[in-house]
Amino acid sequence: MPELIEVDLYRQAAKRALGRTIKSVAIPNETYLVGDSDLSKFRKAIYGRQLRGVRRIGKLLLLDVAHVSVGMRFGMTGRLIVDDEPAIDQLLYTTNEMQKKHLRCVINFEEEGALSMIDPRRFGNVELGPDESQVGPDAARITAEELTIFQSSSASIKALLLDQRRIGGLGNLLCDEIMWRSGIKPTRTGRTLKTTDIQLLASTIQATITELTDRGGSHMGDLQSQRRHGGSCPTDGCELTRDLVAGRTTWWCPEHQC
Ligand SMILES: [Zn+2]
Repeated sequence: MPELIEVDLYRQAAKRALGRTIKSVAIPNETYLVGDSDLSKFRKAIYGRQLRGVRRIGKLLLLDVAHVSVGMRFGMTGRLIVDDEPAIDQLLYTTNEMQKKHLRCVINFEEEGALSMIDPRRFGNVELGPDESQVGPDAARITAEELTIFQSSSASIKALLLDQRRIGGLGNLLCDEIMWRSGIKPTRTGRTLKTTDIQLLASTIQATITELTDRGGSHMGDLQSQRRHGGSCPTDGCELTRDLVAGRTTWWCPEHQC
């Protein structure tokens, strides 16, 4: 599943198309386009316009075109292909084969090439002018001060980290890796977090993102190979616990995460 790290790689790849002029757009199934604009309004807003910026907020990729932005959300299995080249060589849960039937949105340029979204399971979407204020502070730059809002919540820490309005960019794998590294049990509520926990969490989030970005993806965490039945904690060897937390399969160490 693309998390902030993968979407940032898409952003970097999409920069190749900066300055090009949009010639045409194909969205084979119009339900992939969400928000207030239908396909004709969408086309009208971007045809003949230049791609002048590519940004990322949390897991949302933004293409700046004239005075509007096109938002791309990659859901569980979405990927971005730039000029027929995948932005990431290998991504967990998805195949790299260019499958035409999974093409959800193709933006063609007058000069050359295209930006294409492939999304087999179709949990992603495209939106003209998405509300950027709905995404919380970016996880890659999160501060302890911004995380103090967790302390007034009775929701689980896993749910809080996954809530894109509170902190933008984390998905299931990064959340489990961060909580494992922090020694924090995912089912604990936000209210139980002390100030020292908040500081540890904020620094661990930043450090984990930096390290896994260098390794090449959200699936490159130390816990990853042990996310299976019989898997054990890489630190103390204790068998990992698995449960559904915040609706997601969650793995943690019952020994050192408390
Ligand atoms: Zn452990």
